[in-house]
Amino acid sequence: MPRSPLLIGVTELRRRPGTQREVTIDAEVPGLSITTARVPAGEPVQLDLVLEAIDGAITATGRVTAPWSAECRRCLDDVRGVASVDIREVFETHPVAGETYPIDGDDIDLEPVVRDTVLLHLPLAPLCRPDCLGPAPDEFPAVVEGAATDPDEPPDADGPPRDPRWAALDELRLDPD
Ligand SMILES: [Zn+2]
Repeated sequence: MPRSPLLIGVTELRRRPGTQREVTIDAEVPGLSITTARVPAGEPVQLDLVLEAIDGAITATGRVTAPWSAECRRCLDDVRGVASVDIREVFETHPVAGETYPIDGDDIDLEPVVRDTVLLHLPLAPLCRPDCLGPAPDEFPAVVEGAATDPDEPPDADGPPRDPRWAALDELRLDPD
């Protein structure tokens, strides 16, 4: 299996504390998906980061940019967008669960950072436009935010969208380390 482009060797960086290294990566990360939206297969996530060695740790500061697609929750048309998120994460030899990421031997792995960041920023209630009225507004007026739901409408079988933060935690638990 080819080495993941998101695995970054940091040995040199750690030997020279205070130095910085710019990292620009386009990487396909499968499985970035929540109930309401997803990063389409074959479309890369872009990372523009500066890595810096500080006190034995590595900080990664910069931006994660991910294209997403979804269906408008009113008219079900395709909706496309881009999540662009500024991050500052810390990698250390003994990471704090939920707060910092591990330095594993010579490497840091940016994939968990991408997963945690993107899953938290995919839209939970996508709309094709803010005033979308649904597919047939005359016959089926859109339900206004906060109003009572149509009693004829069946309840959502899947329940409310799952909090993507839990999905991120699942990914962490699945991590073999
Ligand atoms: Zn719509």
